[in-house]
Amino acid sequence: MAGVKIKQLHKKFGDVPVLSGVDLDIRDGEFVSFLGPSGCGKTTLLRSIAGLEKINAGAVVLDEREVTNLPPAKRDIAMVFQNYALYPHMSVYKNLSFGLSLNGVPRREIEERVQNAAHILQISDLLKRRPKQLSGGQRQRVAIGRAIVRDPELFLLDEPLSNLDAGLRVTMRVELANLHKRLGVTMIYVTHDQVEAMTLSNRVVVLDKGKVAQFGTPLELFYAPENLFVAGFIGSPKMNFIKVEAKALPEKKIRVVGNSLDHAIDITMREDVADLSDGEHTLGIRPDNIELVDERDADAHGQVILVERLGTESQVHLALDNGQNFTIITRGTHPVVANERVHLKFPAQHCHIFNPDGDAIPRALDAETRSLIDRQKGSRNATGRGEE
Ligand code: ATP
Repeated sequence: MAGVKIKQLHKKFGDVPVLSGVDLDIRDGEFVSFLGPSGCGKTTLLRSIAGLEKINAGAVVLDEREVTNLPPAKRDIAMVFQNYALYPHMSVYKNLSFGLSLNGVPRREIEERVQNAAHILQISDLLKRRPKQLSGGQRQRVAIGRAIVRDPELFLLDEPLSNLDAGLRVTMRVELANLHKRLGVTMIYVTHDQVEAMTLSNRVVVLDKGKVAQFGTPLELFYAPENLFVAGFIGSPKMNFIKVEAKALPEKKIRVVGNSLDHAIDITMREDVADLSDGEHTLGIRPDNIELVDERDADAHGQVILVERLGTESQVHLALDNGQNFTIITRGTHPVVANERVHLKFPAQHCHIFNPDGDAIPRALDAETRSLIDRQKGSRNATGRGEE
C-alpha cells in the first residue's frame, strides 16, 4: 500500500500552463477523487502520477520513494481508463492474465490471481467470453480486474464509469466503494460527477484551472467551502450569491447589509478567525437553506419564474427584486406557482461570507454539523459517507 505526495507539480503543454504548483498529500489507503470542470487538469494530474506525462517541475513521491523520473512500468501503479482498453480478440481470462504472462509470472500464480480477481468482481462465469460478448458493466469489471491481478500499490481510475448508463453507474459506484473497502489500497479517481466524488471519496481534490481550490472531506467541501469557486461548484443546484456590505462586530460576528436585503444579518464566525474585514463582501446561501416566510419576516423578495416539481422536492427559480436570479428548494410539492411574489428568509447560521478576493471567512458551525464533519474525517478506508 502507498501514500502519494505531490510537491509543487507544474505541467505545461507548449507554453500553456495546465497544472500550476499542485501540492497534495494522499494518505495510504485513502480513496481520493480529483473533481473539477472540464479542462481543469484532472486527467493530466492523474497521468503525471502514472508517469504517462512528463512534468516540467516538481516531484511525485510514492510510498516515500521519489518516482518523478521513473517510467510508468516501474511505479507499481495500475490505471483503469474510461474506454476500458480491453483486447477485443482475447478472452476475458486472457485479458486478465496477459500482463502477468508478459512479466514472467508463473502459470500457477497467474491462475490463482485471475480466479481471485474474477471472484471479487463476480465475473468467474465470464472468463471464456470475448469483450464484445459482455455488457458495459461487465467490461468495466474486467478492466478493473486487470488492475487487481497486478496487486498494485496504487489504483488510478480515469472516469471509469462515464460510458455506463445512469442505473449501472450507481451499481458500479457501490461496487467500487466495496472493492476499495475490501482491498484497502490507495485509489485516485478522476471524475467530473460530484455525486460520484462525494459518495465514494474519503477526500476530494477540487481543481480550478490547474490549481487546488480545496482538498477536503466531502462534508468539509459542502459545509465549509474555502472560496467562491468551491462554494459554487459543490452542491446542486448551486449556492446563491449576493453582494453585501460587511461590518465587523464584537464577539466574532459580521453584520451584512445590502440593497437586496430588508434587514441586516448578523453571522457568527469561527472562534479562531483573526481578521474580520469590513467593506464589500459576497453572501452565499444554499437553495435548500432559504425559507419562504410572510412578507414582514423576510430578508428579501422576488418573483417566481419557474417551478420544477421533482416529487421529494421542488426547485423554485425566481428573480429577486434587484433582478438577480435565485434558486430555492422546498421539501415536497410546494404550492408556489410561476409569477407569484415570494418572501425569503436567509437564516444566519446557513450564510457563508466571502471577502473581495473570493476567500471564505470561516463561519461557526453548529455542533451537529461539526460532529458529522469530524466523524467523516476520522473514517479512513470507508466510503465518503464516513460510516463504517
Ligand atoms: P475533462 O473533464 O474534459 O476530461 P480534465 O480536467 O481531465 O478535463 P485535462 O484532460 O487534464 O483536463 O486537460 C487540461 C488542459 O490541458 C485542457 O485545456 C486540455 O485541452 C489541455 N491538454 C490536455 N492534453 C493535451 C495535449 N496532449 N496537448 C495539448 N494540450 C493538452
